[in-house]
Amino acid sequence: MRVTVLRLGHRVFRDKRLTTHVALTARALGADEVVLSGEKDDGILESILDICERWGGHFKVSYEKNWKGFLERKKREGCELIHLTMYGLQHQTQISEIRKSKKDKVIIVGSEKVPTEVYHLADYNLSVTSQPHSEVAALAVFLHDFFEGKELEKEFEKPKVKVVPKACGKDVRKEA
Ligand code: SAM
Repeated sequence: MRVTVLRLGHRVFRDKRLTTHVALTARALGADEVVLSGEKDDGILESILDICERWGGHFKVSYEKNWKGFLERKKREGCELIHLTMYGLQHQTQISEIRKSKKDKVIIVGSEKVPTEVYHLADYNLSVTSQPHSEVAALAVFLHDFFEGKELEKEFEKPKVKVVPKACGKDVRKEA
């Protein structure tokens, strides 16, 4: 099953850091791909790709101008669309049903205001608490619950650098 994260409404000057964190969190916690929408930002695509190349694995990054067309296409292809929003149903009440379905998933996270159409297109509108916080936090908690913690053991193929976990200090090895 393929897990794609769609980041809506990227703004070049305001969201660089947060959008990068959405992508890196998606990658680190088991998603296969991030699709960025909103303002086109080649710099951010390149910097995420650069990190992926150094740290390994097969994570994909792309830009999609027409987020609605993208979601409609994914739906036609049989994907389940899961929109993370503080207004949705509590994710812990829905997650086992979502896990049972073997359909590919598109996880949607917003930035500022998310268009109403997203709520209608989504198969699930899910909250990670009903409190306002961050798309990065919501995505991390959702993926961790969805993968039941197994994503923490994920190995990334052919990295150029790798951290050797240590109780104290830093050990980053260059891989052959
Ligand atoms: N009013 C927004 C909402 O619908 O959740 C909050 C905007 S917040 C700055 C940006 C994004 O963070 C939202 O589009 C949503 O994806 C995510 N987010 C924030 N709080 C959340 C929560 N409690 N549960 C799930 N997602 C949340």
